[in-house]
Amino acid sequence: MFRKDYFLIFFFVVLLFTTACATKKPIKKDFYLPSPEDIKEKYIAVEEAEPGQPSKRIYYKVAPWYGFKKAACSLTFDDGTRDQYMVAFPEMEKRNIKGTFFLITRLVRRSYWMDDKLKRHLFSWDQARQLWVAGHEIGSHSRTHKDLTKRGVNVKRELGGSSEKILKEIPSVIAVTLSWPYWRNNEEHQDLASEHYISARAGTGLIENYVENNIDNPKSRVINLYAVDSICIRNSEIDKPWKSYSNRIWEDGKWFVLCFHGIDDGRIDQDWLGWEPLSISQFRDILNHIEDRDFWIAPFGMVSRYIRERDSATLALKASRSSYYILSLDDGLDDAVFNQPLSIEIKIPEKWKKYRVSQRRIAIDHHITKEGYLRFSVLPDGSDIFIERVE
Ligand SMILES: [Zn+2]
Repeated sequence: MFRKDYFLIFFFVVLLFTTACATKKPIKKDFYLPSPEDIKEKYIAVEEAEPGQPSKRIYYKVAPWYGFKKAACSLTFDDGTRDQYMVAFPEMEKRNIKGTFFLITRLVRRSYWMDDKLKRHLFSWDQARQLWVAGHEIGSHSRTHKDLTKRGVNVKRELGGSSEKILKEIPSVIAVTLSWPYWRNNEEHQDLASEHYISARAGTGLIENYVENNIDNPKSRVINLYAVDSICIRNSEIDKPWKSYSNRIWEDGKWFVLCFHGIDDGRIDQDWLGWEPLSISQFRDILNHIEDRDFWIAPFGMVSRYIRERDSATLALKASRSSYYILSLDDGLDDAVFNQPLSIEIKIPEKWKKYRVSQRRIAIDHHITKEGYLRFSVLPDGSDIFIERVE
């Protein structure tokens, strides 16, 4: 009888211990940003080889960035001040550039934020929904913009409450990204953030720090997705040589994350402006510069998704015949959240002139490079990708 009890106690202790270990699994935060040269060729076997013969193989590669662009760029806006909706939004719409707007969610309904002693008017939930419908991202800048590193602040509430509010106000949002108030955070905060957000933007406000961390630092190909650094181009920083830094990031094939506050067209009320506003012509100059380069310009959350999916995606061959191939690309992530298409290139062994590519019975745009590689973008959800011979 006693021995049985001991056994049961022992069993439960082991069970508790393994459950505790499982829940304490460290969160993956660091991701490597590969350059095209870093990406090794990958192959999938097409068919079993005859004994002693090499097996037929298909070459493939997942692009470092969507559309095989050389580098990525995200435009992000903090605080949700009204000038961003009135001035930045229409300017970006003219160019079809989509950005990310991080809101102080508790204060949106009240419509203003006391930034120290300065009153700054914020745009409304209706306006946020308009931005979202137009293809921009609505993210969180915490609930009340408190410095989360100060004692006594309820960090859990500031983070969790804010993402919940966005999901409630904009029901078609599936997952949210965050920008840290005053850029301040620590590892414990990052762990907490990972429970509510797919990624978080940090920064420092000084261009020198950005250069030191992202250009001069040889380890800057590893980024922490819960503290992604950003370059803050504001009024007192605009005369620094940010264009040459942008060119370096582009040449290195990295992710150029810009952090904006106020944008002033000279016609709107002073208390509608964000911190250290740029003039509209300075803002246009930045947009022109980015558009002139081959950046993949996309909201912060979209690029975060691409990085995470790319990191774990593998291509599998499900079937091959003389006139078609069936492949599937899978990343093992939650498909409802991680729904950003990945760009891949493959080399079909047969010399077909024309292809048809489809996924879930939907035709997929594709093109063939000079070297004969077939390139297209598909969802990494494990569904069938058909590549058929047309000619
Ligand atoms: Zn802020």
